[in-house]
Amino acid sequence: MPKTIIVSNRLPVKISKTDNDYNLSSSEGGLATGLGSIYKQGDNVWIGWPGVEITEQQDKDTVTKQLKELSLVPVFLDQEEINQYYEGFSNEVLWPVFHYYASTYATYKQSNWDFYQAVNKKFRDVILTIAEPGDVIWIHDYQLLLLPALVRHEIPDVSIGFFLHIPFPSHEMFRLIPWRSELLEGMLGADLIGLHTFDDVRHFLGATTRILPVTSSANIIATGERSIVVESFPMGIDEQKYASLPLQDDVKHQVELIKNNFRDGKLILSVDRLDYSKGILQRLAAFELLLQLCPECIENIALYMIVVPSRDTVPQYAHLRDEIDKKVGNINSIYRTMDWSPIHYYYRSFPLETLSALYTTADVCLVTPMRDGMNLVSKEYVASRVNNDGVLIMSEMAGASKELIDAIIVNPNNTGEVCRAILQAINMPLDEQKKRMIPMRQLVAKFNIRHWVKIFMDRLKEVKLMQRSLQTRHVSNTTEQSIINRYSKTKKRIIFLDYDGTLVGFRSAIEQASPDKELYSIIQKLTEDPANQVVLISGRKHENLDEWFQHTDMYLIAEHGSWFKQPGTTWHRIAGLSDQWKHDIYPLLETYVDRTPGSFIEEKTYSLVWHYRKAQAGLGELRAGELMNNLKYLASDKGLQLLAGDKVLEVKNMDINKGKAALTLTEGKEYDFVIAFGDDYTDEDIFKALPESAITIKVGSNISAAKFYLRNPQEVRKLLTSFTKQHVGQDSRILQD
Ligand code: UDP
Repeated sequence: MPKTIIVSNRLPVKISKTDNDYNLSSSEGGLATGLGSIYKQGDNVWIGWPGVEITEQQDKDTVTKQLKELSLVPVFLDQEEINQYYEGFSNEVLWPVFHYYASTYATYKQSNWDFYQAVNKKFRDVILTIAEPGDVIWIHDYQLLLLPALVRHEIPDVSIGFFLHIPFPSHEMFRLIPWRSELLEGMLGADLIGLHTFDDVRHFLGATTRILPVTSSANIIATGERSIVVESFPMGIDEQKYASLPLQDDVKHQVELIKNNFRDGKLILSVDRLDYSKGILQRLAAFELLLQLCPECIENIALYMIVVPSRDTVPQYAHLRDEIDKKVGNINSIYRTMDWSPIHYYYRSFPLETLSALYTTADVCLVTPMRDGMNLVSKEYVASRVNNDGVLIMSEMAGASKELIDAIIVNPNNTGEVCRAILQAINMPLDEQKKRMIPMRQLVAKFNIRHWVKIFMDRLKEVKLMQRSLQTRHVSNTTEQSIINRYSKTKKRIIFLDYDGTLVGFRSAIEQASPDKELYSIIQKLTEDPANQVVLISGRKHENLDEWFQHTDMYLIAEHGSWFKQPGTTWHRIAGLSDQWKHDIYPLLETYVDRTPGSFIEEKTYSLVWHYRKAQAGLGELRAGELMNNLKYLASDKGLQLLAGDKVLEVKNMDINKGKAALTLTEGKEYDFVIAFGDDYTDEDIFKALPESAITIKVGSNISAAKFYLRNPQEVRKLLTSFTKQHVGQDSRILQD
């Protein structure tokens, strides 16, 4: 039975040391609740750092035993590792860069990076003591970006999911990190990469395709080895818990106490961890502006501001804390009256029940981070509003603003806007409050933490199935031997070879992808055998194929089947087709060349091709989509087909396709071995047109009608080379004649 292993930097547990013992209590964070249904089952476990430094081996053994009872497995880290991997790299490179604070707070130190790698390996080593092929491993967050690939390298046959709990920044930001490629390669060890929002997904795909030599189609990244799915899974909370707390007596009691304190005043609540990304000072500025502009607010509103201590031994955080202290002191000293203070500031954390009482009592919840992956406080406030009233003010920079669209959405940098939003909120009629709160409550209830865990795990299973279905069709050693056996036993063979992407890899200049010595030698050997008819069937121009292959004994088919040339004869082209449409289409394509530096038009006999491989990344794709839309109707009127290939858009006569061309060579001939290799969807026409007995092989990992897959041109060459050697093996069961 395969296991599921959860991995995160911190274990969901609090450990405290008494005189000669350790006390363990599970910490009930949202994530732990959601994942509880997983890691507490059967042999499943959660791996992570227990949160305290334990030096003695004997103590480590004791704690390990105690954790085992909670299905937890420790990765012990010493103080130096915590300083450099966690504080140094995770919190002083990744956290600021991913929250768009690179220029102010990021410091790039080689030794921090070394520790980050070393600790990720430490996590890997603990995983390796537990994981077996077939297991599911779900890795969490920015402290462990390298871990997916480290694990994949050791046990390839596992399902790995990765979830990033903080934002993924634009490529412009991400590329500043000196170790950007290594970080992305690490993440690409996963099968499914989850982020909070669609924007994070776009940024991740943008950064990956720009920095690494991989391609993406929609939300799937093809690395050659595997297809990796990148998707948004906005994280939810334990909604039932927050909705039921206000019904508890102790919470009701605390609600009464708070209400008595405020009489008829309006209570505005904000809850954050101490962090520069939370926009606490900017929020105070907006509140101060409100007090300046709104005399009626004096003595009638109060801001309850809870800041949970975090990392305040680090100078930047201590400085922020001091600034907040100062600002709160200033505002209070200016606006305070004998029996009223505008801000009630708490630099501490509160028990859940008090938090719930505050969520229940607050008329307004003010959530205005400068940047936040998701922000759970906003969802907790919504879930706590069991009477469907209350107003949420939400920064558009928090992931949650993409879901909680009925909140008052603000730009946290716009002090005036935040100030007006508070005014709107405290004056909002009950009807409107409910109209906004009800849909938000429904959303938070449905997309709760359990739902989040379930859809992530379900999707991971689907992704693995998709990969496996491709893998089972990969030409294995046995299949290869079987194809070779069949080859060696047959007397009249036809071999269809596509060129770009099949026999050679793609280059940025089309003329650079010329054949090399090895390829010529393979062709030479294949064509030497009188039993073989070798057909090169390409989208390239006939002049181009002539230049490279006229001296060979291959049958050449150019421009997707417009031109044919038997060895030793001259080219002839397919008759009776019109190319008059080019006069209309060419000028249109020219306007795209004028607007897109690096792109150009290639003219073929019955087609026009717009190439954008050298255009700025992203711009080419954008213009290609625009061009497709532009040409859609014109093309069907004129009997043309639009083919979106690898960084090209081809407009061609509909009557020409590689499938038809292939059939003209096979029909009526008694070939006893038909094989076709191709990589893009123009080759799909061949795969579909050939008889059932043909062996069809797709190069790459896109969905295909072909029977088998090979990963790249090197694998194609290897198979073709084996043909010329003709070793007859034992197993010919897979492919019966
Ligand atoms: N929180 C807490 N103790 C407190 C105040 C808040 O544990 O005294 C919790 C709060 O309930 C929420 C979390 O801290 O679940 C903050 O999560 P959020 O996503 O808003 O911000 P993060 O700190 O993860 O950036």
